[in-house]
Amino acid sequence: MPAGTELLRATIFHTPQNPFQLDINDPHGLDCHQDGGLLIRDGRVEACGDFEALRAANPGAAITDWRAGFLVPGFIDTHVHFPQLRIIGALGRSLLDWLECVALPEEARMADVTYAADTARQFLRALASHGTTTALVFGAHFGSATAQLFEAAASSGLRIVSGLVLSDRLLRPELHQTPEQAYRESAQLIDRYHKRGRLIYAVTPRFALSTSDSMLEACQQLITEHPDVRLQTHVNESVQELAELARLFPWAKDYLAIYDRYNLTTSRSVMAHNIHATDRELERMAAAGTAVAHCPASNAVLGSGVFPMARHIRAGVTCALGTDVGGGVGFGMLKEGLHAYLMQRLAPAGEPLDAARLLYLTTLAGAKALGLDAEIGDFRDGKAADFVYLRPPAGGAMAAAVRHADSPMQALSSLFTMAGAESVREVRVGGDVVYRAEQT
Ligand SMILES: [Zn+2]
Repeated sequence: MPAGTELLRATIFHTPQNPFQLDINDPHGLDCHQDGGLLIRDGRVEACGDFEALRAANPGAAITDWRAGFLVPGFIDTHVHFPQLRIIGALGRSLLDWLECVALPEEARMADVTYAADTARQFLRALASHGTTTALVFGAHFGSATAQLFEAAASSGLRIVSGLVLSDRLLRPELHQTPEQAYRESAQLIDRYHKRGRLIYAVTPRFALSTSDSMLEACQQLITEHPDVRLQTHVNESVQELAELARLFPWAKDYLAIYDRYNLTTSRSVMAHNIHATDRELERMAAAGTAVAHCPASNAVLGSGVFPMARHIRAGVTCALGTDVGGGVGFGMLKEGLHAYLMQRLAPAGEPLDAARLLYLTTLAGAKALGLDAEIGDFRDGKAADFVYLRPPAGGAMAAAVRHADSPMQALSSLFTMAGAESVREVRVGGDVVYRAEQT
């Protein structure tokens, strides 16, 4: 037995098979080991299965006994804004009003590099303490603030995909850059941070409303010159926004056509929201391999609309989940899963969701959206050991609900319904501890 082999004992859940391709009642959607073992070495999964069998086959492995808890793959948040950490919870506004009165004034404060660095550290701590191990993050409109995020991310050990947010109109003047500046500063950040450790760069036009044709052209140039950076943006979020776009881009037949003209609809692209998508847009996204980050809490808070998940699935578009902090309500991906469930439950022709599908949406689907599914997202042999150890606080209602669950699926449902940061005990990325609660 090679030194450094560890066998973690807990109830283990993961979704190596896409449960959306199975019937909702098919038990194969959830891979569960009630008395499970996760064998890890050198930061990678060696095996995942039943504890006793793995112990017998690996007698020298050091055992970590987490029998009272649950192991799931690290959560993947595919849409979150780091500069908005301090403005979570502004209720009662719609998108454009919220941007102007709440989000953009705070984003302007990121000009102060110390303020940005503090926010970045808090932001990464918030992700890790909620069990998020990978996130696709909107940076700031300032190169210096975005560099602070990357620096803090490198120290945090999390997998962070991010980039300088680009806009040249309609926001506040201090948040605008010229396309030339945007190109230059993005290229510098790519040189400095892309593929440094666990960091990946994403070219980040804010949304079509705030980016002129020349800015979108600069984005096209960046992703052409750097063939493995990602691209993130917003699409089809609010009806008001769509009306404004028709005025700004009269030639575009729909929202996606604007991004399409500059070849931004790619297999490296993740677009947030897509609530008001047409069938053409869904077909085009599926053909291009562009993924959608669905952010149910934010969509409800801002009254943006009900996400047509069933149409996305039917069209073959990869959907993952994002918290969309600060339009969203917090960093917890379990809670985001619950919000997705609630929204689909009430939506006309909503997609039926169960705990297996929620786990998939918060883990492997995110890995697919980011093109990282060969590395993370589930516990198949050889994958990176990114995981969350969850255990509800003793004596509380959640612990009681989980203990009395009549099936593992029911226990996982209770976790999605009730669990937040209080239940996150330890989080690892590539086998490295990135968060440990004071009392594990
Ligand atoms: Zn957003």
